[in-house]
Amino acid sequence: MRNLDRKLVAGNWKMNLLRQDAQGLMAEIIGMLADEESRDVRVAIIPPLVHIGALVQQAASDKRIGIGAQNCSDKVSGAFTGEVSASMINSVGGKYVIIGHSERRTYYHESDEQLLNKTKLVLAEKIKPIFCCGESLTDRNSGNYFEIVQQQLTNSLFELAIEDIKNCVIAYEPVWAIGTGLTASPDQAQEMHAFIRKLVAEKYEDAIADQTTILYGGSCNEKNAKELFALPDVDGGLIGGAALKSRSFVDIIKALP
Ligand code: PGA
Repeated sequence: MRNLDRKLVAGNWKMNLLRQDAQGLMAEIIGMLADEESRDVRVAIIPPLVHIGALVQQAASDKRIGIGAQNCSDKVSGAFTGEVSASMINSVGGKYVIIGHSERRTYYHESDEQLLNKTKLVLAEKIKPIFCCGESLTDRNSGNYFEIVQQQLTNSLFELAIEDIKNCVIAYEPVWAIGTGLTASPDQAQEMHAFIRKLVAEKYEDAIADQTTILYGGSCNEKNAKELFALPDVDGGLIGGAALKSRSFVDIIKALP
């Protein structure tokens, strides 16, 4: 059975857009969604941290849109210069936090333990982690991609209690597909998403697995979204490059079945 509540499209703006450009893009998205998209969809916009407060206010009139952060600290508070806590993100109205994006795992060497701590702190604020997993090209080519994704989930996310896992979104983002223009084929995406859902069922319960939102990310765009989103275990997308153009992003949202 398809579960419509699972559907979500999230736009990860990464380190792009100055304040006025961010607000301009947000205004375009709000306008297009109001004009063209009367359905009950869930949309997450994940701008650079400094823009969160402004975008929360700007998007307040459209209940379908939640604003989020691309990262948070693995500490509660204190002398950690440059860090921003999950509670601060909550205090400005953030509703999502991306955890363990491959760019953070690779460039900032975030460990499984840190990712687990971040996830717990986000959940304690009653906001949603979007937990990223995905294999590198080497792992894809050597055929051990299922093991890699299983390890990433087992070492962090699956340490959570059953009440907490219910509130997590999982994003499968093959690293070789991120920003490269190479997209996982529908078969590759479906087999990994079904595998992730099976792992959730085995670790927790079938009912939890059925409710879990599993997004696909990696060169998802307005041309391939429809085919990917039609797959039984793909519940939407985590969109990078194509989220920076209002027309493309809204067309991706419209591709949700
Ligand atoms: P991309 O990025 O859509 O530009 O490939 C996806 C992501 O990194 O979340």
